Amino acid sequence: MATASSKTYIVEHLDPELGTWSELEYLAIARESQEAGAKFCLSSLPETFKVPEALSSIPSFTAETRSVEDLYASDKSRVCLLDPAAARDLAPEDGEKFDAFLFGGILGDDPPRDRTSELRKKGFEGRRLGPIQMTTDTAVRVTRLVVQGKTPLNEIPYLDHPELKFNKHESTQMPFRYVKGQDGKPIMPEGMFDLIRQDSDKAIDDLF
Ligand code: SAM
Repeated sequence: MATASSKTYIVEHLDPELGTWSELEYLAIARESQEAGAKFCLSSLPETFKVPEALSSIPSFTAETRSVEDLYASDKSRVCLLDPAAARDLAPEDGEKFDAFLFGGILGDDPPRDRTSELRKKGFEGRRLGPIQMTTDTAVRVTRLVVQGKTPLNEIPYLDHPELKFNKHESTQMPFRYVKGQDGKPIMPEGMFDLIRQDSDKAIDDLF
């Protein structure tokens, strides 16, 4: 039987570069996986890819140029694709069925463009995390709570499409589902709130 310590979260990087947004997400996944006794693998990285020092220094993190099909060629049935279009939702028992959980390394988009279909074609068994699009780090966090923490999907506290307030006059609404933190705010990677604020300032400047 698979144990919590043998769980691997794989993000197949599907974008040509690593933007700041993805970097913050990957760092959060790596730190939380390390704390939870799990591994985090970033697969399909371009040969020329320079892994940021903050990531490579996390012991349970590995960077791979091979794709998930090559990594799990002999044991595809142990890999679960987290897929917004899957017919079944993820359940705590899936922690016994699968050792590795695969996610699309894609930025969320609104409306979702279903780029997870690139991974679906590879034939891994899929599970959904409910009907609402999550950021990649949220999807990994929720999967970990279900398969390692044994919390059913519908008992996790969520915040859907939260409004982030930057000051008295400015705010932005995020088109994703997040896990609600103990402080009642959406759990986000360190530095993400400031990045979103800068992006939103830039969008306003671009209007002029
Ligand atoms: N709009 C995206 C698409 O084109 O598929 C969704 C990308 S989402 C930001 C990144 C990854 O998180 C997805 O590839 C999937 O693995 C996982 N994910 C996010 N929300 C999910 C959900 N509700 N159910 C299952 N997986 C989800």
